[in-house]
Amino acid sequence: MEKLMLVGEGVFPVVKDAEGNAIAEIPATGWNISGTVQGEGKLAGTPSLFIRLASCNLRCIWQMDDGSFCRCDTSYASFHPNDKKAWNVDEIVNVIKQNIGAMQHVVITGGEPLLQKNGVAALCKSIKENLGLHITIETNGTIFCEELTKYVDLFSISPKLSNSVPSAERLKFYNEAETPSSRYHHEVRKNMPVLQSYIDKSNDLQLKFVVAKQSDADEIINDYLKVLKGYKKCDTMLMPLGATHEQITKSNPIVLQMCIQNGWKYTPRIHIDIFGSKQGV
Ligand code: SF4
Repeated sequence: MEKLMLVGEGVFPVVKDAEGNAIAEIPATGWNISGTVQGEGKLAGTPSLFIRLASCNLRCIWQMDDGSFCRCDTSYASFHPNDKKAWNVDEIVNVIKQNIGAMQHVVITGGEPLLQKNGVAALCKSIKENLGLHITIETNGTIFCEELTKYVDLFSISPKLSNSVPSAERLKFYNEAETPSSRYHHEVRKNMPVLQSYIDKSNDLQLKFVVAKQSDADEIINDYLKVLKGYKKCDTMLMPLGATHEQITKSNPIVLQMCIQNGWKYTPRIHIDIFGSKQGV
């Protein structure tokens, strides 16, 4: 039986355990029901359950246009995946079954889910065969697994631009040590053969670039869009950098103008508008 390492909230937001018994705590949404909405991308607003996997091969820290820093909004899954637990595939599927209600959509996220690609493939197979749900996987686009294309309906790929690299100054700002698992792993952040495989072999995808600076547009065009072949322009979207409502408000004008000038879609971050930077929503 494949096991997956989940972090923090695991499967969320839920009100029942794998046996269907009520869980004592109310979900982080503050609502006594299972589920939330997908906050980003082409399925923004879709009622969903989320599964959060531990660990990431990157350690993103961006600089905003005003010079301030902003790091990965799920650092508890990437920088410090300490609160983690091994789950059997059956246990995850049973929790989904007990909590899915009228929702039709699950989102597998992280961290970087593809670090556990064999377990994720077993999970997606079981979700499809037993529950028939729509599956989105959120990935940074550094790892590809062909087996997953049989089961995943939407790959939400967020390639990381050079502004995400955690320089010594940025790591110091967040009191993070400069280790091989921080700075140097960002050498793998841009993997064009992997991105091309997603375009060539997946059912549906979106290329969701996190943007904070004017210079990001040239990098998106020259380093990615002029190199990749066969993607649909309507699948290219920009998301404002920010882990808080205030940071997103700062990024928004740059991102919206860039979308208009280049004919790219803008994607909101609905969950931050509604819940702020809360975990488990
Ligand atoms: S790739 Fe995503 S999960 Fe990993 S550190 Fe960057 S923002 Fe966080």
